[in-house]
Amino acid sequence: MRRIPGNESSVGASESDQKRTPTAAMEYRSRKERLLAAFEQAAAAGREVRLRKSTSNLFRNRASGLDRNLDVRDFDHVIEINTDEGWADVEGMTPYEAAVDVLLPHGFVPAVVPELKSITVGGAISGGGIESSSFRYGFVHETVIEMEILTGSGECILCRPDNEHRALFFGFPCSYGSLGYCLRARIRIVPTKPFVHLQHRRYTEIDPFFRDIERLCRENLADGAPVAFIDGSVFSPQELFLTTGEWADHAPRVSDYSGMNIYHRSIRENGKDWLTARGYLWRWDADWFWCSRAFGAENRFVRRLYHHLGMLRSTTYWKIKSIVQRSGLLRLLGKERNTEYVIQDVEIPVTRAPEFLRFMFDEVGLLPIWICPAASPDPSARFSLYPTDPNELYINFGFWGGVRSDHSPGYYDRLIESKVSALAGNKSLYSTSYFDRKTFDELYNGPAYRELKERYDPDHRFLDRYEKCVRGR
Ligand SMILES: Cc1cc2nc3c(=O)[nH]c(=O)nc-3n(C[C@H](O)[C@H](O)[C@H](O)COP(=O)(O)OP(=O)(O)OC[C@H]3O[C@@H](n4cnc5c(N)ncnc54)[C@H](O)[C@@H]3O)c2cc1C
Repeated sequence: MRRIPGNESSVGASESDQKRTPTAAMEYRSRKERLLAAFEQAAAAGREVRLRKSTSNLFRNRASGLDRNLDVRDFDHVIEINTDEGWADVEGMTPYEAAVDVLLPHGFVPAVVPELKSITVGGAISGGGIESSSFRYGFVHETVIEMEILTGSGECILCRPDNEHRALFFGFPCSYGSLGYCLRARIRIVPTKPFVHLQHRRYTEIDPFFRDIERLCRENLADGAPVAFIDGSVFSPQELFLTTGEWADHAPRVSDYSGMNIYHRSIRENGKDWLTARGYLWRWDADWFWCSRAFGAENRFVRRLYHHLGMLRSTTYWKIKSIVQRSGLLRLLGKERNTEYVIQDVEIPVTRAPEFLRFMFDEVGLLPIWICPAASPDPSARFSLYPTDPNELYINFGFWGGVRSDHSPGYYDRLIESKVSALAGNKSLYSTSYFDRKTFDELYNGPAYRELKERYDPDHRFLDRYEKCVRGR
């Protein structure tokens, strides 16, 4: 068996200076003890417990001036890698970028790597992370073998699909940190090759586009089938692109979208393309899909400056957006008037996907749209709070931008919520939501949630999920 001790590097370490130490597991234990003591202290003072992290990808408005009293910033290590059995033990706040930096030199990556470098393993498990390998491996939480979770009762609990805490294991996805925080996850990893060969196929009609996505997903479901990645980009009703990726040992040429070249533009320009494995995983990060345009990054001069300063990263735009939002500048400039920011990811069963896309064209008008299929690798596994049917193939639609609006605030988000429910879909909760409590309970399995809350956070040390995800507390 090939077991490789993990790294002791943390966020920001370069690819070349990853050190390895056999003491990674011991260090994890001592970090855990320190955290449990900090939790006890906060609990003894009767305080609500909230995470202090270095990054976030949350988009819902949150109350300001929160007391972030649980510092988890150093839970960002890969503890162990087992390439024979295909898993890695990773701390909960490890950004995928750091995990990939450690795993890739061994020829492995997590089975599902969300597109943005700063998304953390725990955040993606609790929030329904997804990527272009999800048609084969499912959502990020479906790649988890076991987890250690700091619960509201101040214990660190090991939960697995087959132990006495299986209810927590299956109830953790879509809990958004309201039941506990994942400190360590054993996640599935898969072998890589040096390059990814991409093909972008254009469609001018909606129905054949989704028919081909469904067919390709079903044909390539098995490990070892040629197509390893499937996603799509919709630029207009006549410009729908289906992108497939295959691992490759060689490449006739290699494109780079981490600098002056822009990935989403390349989709419309190149039928075929080759990227390094790393370049593929982070193809969307430098431009935050297409959202960097709002920050001037598609202007050559501004882009050169960002590039020169090492700022072509999704975290840059997130920070600028947070600063601008806090300063009230948009309101002062009148930019918020007549604009609704619709930043959402939703999943729709593939058979209803054409209807949803037509609705987006006709009723919302927000473009481009990212498309990503996801299917459960184990249809018998039921994630109690995650409202998807494991026997369905889902299409994730990601749309992030401003819509001109003369309606009341939240008009488009509400419209989308109703449509998603009508089509038996699921809406992610990382951004603004408007559900009333009763509807929320029905959609996100309120009774199962309350049972888990009672068992694992009886004193309500963590915020209630509805308060957090809908009321923005
Ligand atoms: C423009 C945009 C595009 C996106 N695209 C994608 C995409 O392509 N693929 C994808 O998978 N996701 C995408 N997301 C969503 C993103 O994955 C979620 O927002 C995710 O929850 C962020 O995780 P984070 O690690 O940054 O956590 P945070 O943003 O810090 O927190 C998110 C939530 O998770 C909870 N949480 C954080 N860490 C833990 C933990 N260790 N244990 C338990 N709960 C925890 C927090 O309490 C919070 O409620 C996108 C988001 C945006 C804004």
